[in-house]
Amino acid sequence: MDLLSLALIFVFGTIIGSFLNVVIYRYNSGSSPLKGRSQCFSCAKTLHWYELVPIVSFLIQGGRCRGCHAKISWQYITVEILSGIIFVSVFLLGKKPLETAYLLTIFSTLLVIGVYDLRHQIIPDGLVAFFALLSLAWFLWTMHLGLGLSEMFRYPFIWELLAGPILFFPFWALWAISRGKWIGLGDGKLAIGIGWFLASPLGGATPGGSAIMLAFWIGAFWALGIIFGQKVVPLFRWKGRTTHLSMKSEIPFGPFLILAVFVVYFTHINFFDGSITFFTFL
Ligand SMILES: [Zn+2]
Repeated sequence: MDLLSLALIFVFGTIIGSFLNVVIYRYNSGSSPLKGRSQCFSCAKTLHWYELVPIVSFLIQGGRCRGCHAKISWQYITVEILSGIIFVSVFLLGKKPLETAYLLTIFSTLLVIGVYDLRHQIIPDGLVAFFALLSLAWFLWTMHLGLGLSEMFRYPFIWELLAGPILFFPFWALWAISRGKWIGLGDGKLAIGIGWFLASPLGGATPGGSAIMLAFWIGAFWALGIIFGQKVVPLFRWKGRTTHLSMKSEIPFGPFLILAVFVVYFTHINFFDGSITFFTFL
């Protein structure tokens, strides 16, 4: 694929990212993401088209509203860039148009869940159920469309279909033992969809298990990095507030899980048999 096409795909991804921002902002707020013009969240000024150009508007305006000069959250430009990266990565896989569109829907849903979890420390049931259904359908579509009924009840299919529920179990156990103190059940519900989604290209429950292990490691390194960073720089700024992160702080786990799904999907890294294929699309 040539650079111009990739650039155009990236731009298209940022436009979708801009829409995903609206979905994240309006989800559970009672207003539809498809209705109404975009407004400044501070002064409610209706935004012109040139204030809605992904990434560019944010940079030109210095991250502030042109009307009231209120700061615009970094969430907006970050989601737009991540969405652009997702679009380029998925297009580089070179799949058929329908599969490409479907994968983009799955990854966009995950991006929305991750950022929503970061904002609200909760994974909404509606979004996580939507992701699980998309994953199950993807799993059945890509792996088992041609199977007869008798084959469906044999070993490989059952094992792979269990990839979702198996991954839910450790989260449920942690949740039950701690009575919801260590972990929310939302992460476990998310793991069901992760199991099905990753079982499709790679087979079985080990890819999903790898994603969960990777998420724990990324999360642990991130938290330890910040805790030690605070020793050096006493005040760590997070979301504009000065907060101290300690071993008792609650950190949303969803974003780490979702980052890990992305890494496992595109690298095929598997901690259970030690295999890894970097940049599977190259
Ligand atoms: Zn404003």
